[in-house]
Amino acid sequence: MTVIAVAPIASVATFLGTESDLLIGGERVPSHDGGRFDVLDPASGARLATAPMARAADVDRAVRAARAAFAGEWAGVTPADRAAALWRLADLIEARFETFAQLEALNVGKVLALSRAVDVTKAIGVLRYMAGWATKLDGGQHPVSLPGQWLAYSRREPLGVVAAIIPWNYPIYMLAAKLAPALAAGNTVVLKPAEQTPLTALLFAGLVEEAGFPPGVVNIITGDGATTGAALVSHPGVDKITFTGSTQVGKAIARQAAARMARVSLELGGKPANLIFADADLDLAIPAAAAGVFANNGQVCMAGSRLYVDRRVFDEVVGGIGAIAERTRLGHPLDPRSEMGPLISAGQRDRVAAFLSEGLADGARIAGQGRAPGGAGNFVPPTVLVGTTPAMRVQREEIFGPVVTVVPFTDADTAVAMANDSRLGLVAGCFTTNLSTAHRVSAALRAGTVFVNCWGRTDMNLPFGGVKQSGWGRELGREGVEAFTETKSVLVSL
Ligand code: NAP
Ligand code: MG
Repeated sequence: MTVIAVAPIASVATFLGTESDLLIGGERVPSHDGGRFDVLDPASGARLATAPMARAADVDRAVRAARAAFAGEWAGVTPADRAAALWRLADLIEARFETFAQLEALNVGKVLALSRAVDVTKAIGVLRYMAGWATKLDGGQHPVSLPGQWLAYSRREPLGVVAAIIPWNYPIYMLAAKLAPALAAGNTVVLKPAEQTPLTALLFAGLVEEAGFPPGVVNIITGDGATTGAALVSHPGVDKITFTGSTQVGKAIARQAAARMARVSLELGGKPANLIFADADLDLAIPAAAAGVFANNGQVCMAGSRLYVDRRVFDEVVGGIGAIAERTRLGHPLDPRSEMGPLISAGQRDRVAAFLSEGLADGARIAGQGRAPGGAGNFVPPTVLVGTTPAMRVQREEIFGPVVTVVPFTDADTAVAMANDSRLGLVAGCFTTNLSTAHRVSAALRAGTVFVNCWGRTDMNLPFGGVKQSGWGRELGREGVEAFTETKSVLVSL
């Protein structure tokens, strides 16, 4: 396919032409050895920009700066002033809304409508939501039954230095979703974006001082996982690691953190199951299920990539989703006609292609689009597969691409059993108009979130996270901010 590139607005072009620095201790600095790495354009494979390569010495500087800020000026900032700084950060992003949206679309390869509606909007939203928690993290006064007279109370205290490591699929939102609760609770942060998508983080780094954060409270270091990420995770000055990414890397981080009992929150992979019952409103279910797996090119931890459909409506659902896949227009992320952009990298494109060819060799059949387009860029069309079995990798493993397997079922119990037959459990869902089916199935599905008659919606006030190998802990909501605190109990003999 031929992709017609669309030029970004001037502010984005200027940013791409500038060599951005790290943010360490309140200063924009190059890495200690001046090293940089290429950031590639997923739509063409060409170089989009470069970013500084932070190595162990830079990571060490950043963690020390965060420690010093935690013990210093930041400790004296009131909760209300922390809230105000977070709110200003949100305002500063909002004032550059289109710059962030276009830069994110270009770097990730996602269509501009999505980076506007989701990535940048939600980044602003989570900063404002978490700003509200800064003034509300109270402890309690606890009745105790010891003999004598006592006052027992508890305080919610920050943990110290938080290391935040994020993936490439929602970079500016993930950045905000990690920073906001950590800062609201009074911690300092060193954040590393994914090596493929450092650009909005570097743009963001330029706003931190203006928002009023003391130097060292927020540090942004770019680089790869093996160098920068590993140095950050193993640094003894880090008190908590908050990680979003693959289950494999999450396990390695948990093992390393255990050695010094650093706190860990993990948001990991998923292979979500979506159940469509025969009584479902198919006009709602079919487009929602398709969007639920194809949005962001399927590069979503909560992509509804395993679809289980009541046998009585199986053909209709497959036909409907297949038709949506067929008419999806692939193109440049900034082209307003594009409904789907490229995948993040050539490696990811090849990985998805390998899953597809293995599935087809095993006997799966394509029921909608699915031919590899060829040409430049990392494009993979949306693909609907039928004839898959539980043993096939295409139905078991997280593909992280626009591929859905559709499997028929005959009754709710077998559907739930198939849905729960996974080592992962991030989200799941069902479409039905029967009230008791909806609630019984929601209770039976093993997942951190269950969507009923919708898919992939999140709210800042609703905890999000996985069961089984999809992670530890919850983000968002009260739980999400309390995860950046430790409870101290104070017992006073009167
Ligand atoms: P990944 O390879 O695990 O990388 C995630 C982050 O970890 C990146 O910043 C990466 O750095 C870094 N990293 C890699 N190795 C590391 C190490 N040894 N020590 C410290 N950091 C290290 O995942 P990905 O391929 O970027 O993202 C896709 C995965 O994320 C999928 O499995 C998806 O399900 C999951 N995900 C989960 C959620 C959720 O909320 N549960 C949300 C989105 C994505 P580099 O990339 O720079 O090397
Ligand atoms: Mg990676």
